[in-house]
Amino acid sequence: MKELIIKQDHLLTVEKVAESISHEIRKPLTSVRGLLQMLKPHLVEMDAPVHYTNLALEELDRANDIIYEFLNTSKPKFSSREEVLVSKVLKDSVMICQSDSILANCSIEYLQNVSDQIVSIDIKQIKQVLLNIIKNAIEAIQESGKPELGSIVISSEEKNGSIVISIADNGIGMSDHTKEKLFSVFFTTKNRGTGIGLAVCNEIVSSHQGTIEFSSTQGLGSTFYIKLPVVQNM
Ligand code: ADP
Ligand code: MG
Repeated sequence: MKELIIKQDHLLTVEKVAESISHEIRKPLTSVRGLLQMLKPHLVEMDAPVHYTNLALEELDRANDIIYEFLNTSKPKFSSREEVLVSKVLKDSVMICQSDSILANCSIEYLQNVSDQIVSIDIKQIKQVLLNIIKNAIEAIQESGKPELGSIVISSEEKNGSIVISIADNGIGMSDHTKEKLFSVFFTTKNRGTGIGLAVCNEIVSSHQGTIEFSSTQGLGSTFYIKLPVVQNM
C-alpha cells in the first residue's frame, strides 16, 4: 500500500515536471514563430525562397501540436464528474468543429434522438474525445480527395445498458494495418500527424468505464462508437 502511494506521488511529480517543461518549450517556439513571420515579407521583397520559411512555420506548428496533445495526456487522471445530457455535449462539440468542417468542404450533421440520455462524465475530457474523433473524420474526408461533399453524421442511442455515440464519416477508410495499430501511441499515417489523438481518447474513455470501437471500409469511410455507462436511478 505504502509503495503504491509513493509511486502515485512520483507520478504526480513527473506529470508536473512534464507540464512545466511543455510550457517552457512552447514559449521559445512562439517567439521563433513570430520572428519567422516578421521575416517573411522581407524575403518576399528580396525574392528569396519563402517556402523554406513556410516549411519552418509548419514544422513549428507540428512541434506545438505534439506538445499540446502531450500536455493533455499528462494531465492528472483525477477527473470531476458531472451529469449532463448527451445532446448538450454533442451539440457543443459539433459547433466547435463547424468552421473546420466548412473549410474542408464537409457537412456535420447531428441526428438528435427523441429520447435524450444522461451521462456522468468529465465534460472537458469527453469533449476532447469527440473533437479528436471529429477532427480525424474531417482529415479522412480531406485525404479521400473525393469531389463530392464530405459528410459526418453523429448520433447517440441507448443500447444494452450503454450510451453509444456514433461518429460516421465517408472519408478514406482504413487499411488492415491501420485497423490493428490506430490506438497505439505515435501511430499515424499522416505526414503531419502526431499519433497521440486516439491513444488519448482511449485512455479518457477507459477511465469513464467505457470503450471505443470502430468499423471501417477502405475507400468508403469509418464509424467510431464511443460507449459510456448509463446513469442509474434517474
Ligand atoms: P493522427 O490523427 O495524429 O494521425 P490519431 O491517433 O488521431 O493520430 O489517429 C491515428 C491514425 O488512425 C490516423 O493516422 C489514421 O490513419 C487513422 N484514423 C483515425 N481516424 C480515422 C478515420 N476517421 N478515418 C480513417 N483513418 C482514421
Ligand atoms: Mg488525430
